[in-house]
Amino acid sequence: MSAEPAAPRTVVLVIEDETPIRKFLRAGLEGQGYAMVEAATAEEGVTQAATCAPDVVLLDLGLPDVDGFEVVRRIRGWSTVPILVLSARGQDGDKVAALDAGADDYVTKPFSMQELLARLRVALRRRAEIGSERAESVVEVGRLRIDLARRRASVSGVETQLTPIEFRLLSILARHAGRVLTHDFLLREVWGPRYTTQHHYLRVYMAQLRHKVEENPGRPQLLLTETGVGYRMAEETRS
Ligand code: CA
Repeated sequence: MSAEPAAPRTVVLVIEDETPIRKFLRAGLEGQGYAMVEAATAEEGVTQAATCAPDVVLLDLGLPDVDGFEVVRRIRGWSTVPILVLSARGQDGDKVAALDAGADDYVTKPFSMQELLARLRVALRRRAEIGSERAESVVEVGRLRIDLARRRASVSGVETQLTPIEFRLLSILARHAGRVLTHDFLLREVWGPRYTTQHHYLRVYMAQLRHKVEENPGRPQLLLTETGVGYRMAEETRS
């Protein structure tokens, strides 16, 4: 055996009852240099989360023993580890419940490894930024540049005139670029806690924003709709 110390690797805990999906994830994650720990039930997963110190958790919402959002709640009882939820198509209510319970994001099955790795990078980067208290004041996503400190936004170098509400909505999405934000969260952050049922406010303002920042507002590339859940700004582009 080699005496060489192993390089510290990012540990991904996968809680998923389907063996083929665990195999698929292991091949993809280990191929990218991640270390993977797996659990086939919620009970086992919660125990692993406490004992193997994962850097990120991938949690299937359809586990045989415990509801996914309950698993999120249990892990959140003691840990701030990023949790990405794996959900089946049509489980919108479950996704929202998991996000409300403290999950960071989700990927809908069937997903590509590329899509999953992108979400994973966003979650890990956010964790690193929180750890170092280094908040970016400029966010760049494709042609869009948002200066949070100076409250300005530009598209391909041309400043865009935004109303205060439009800027507020855009800046919240930008601060969480790459990550899904629920309708409730956005309404609460932009308009206040009494407005969480006013989903049409969001639709109207998102349409306005898309007209100002998207090349083709009908086929948005920057401000993405997550059907039944909320909105997501595309992942930040970094040089
Ligand atoms: Ca399952």
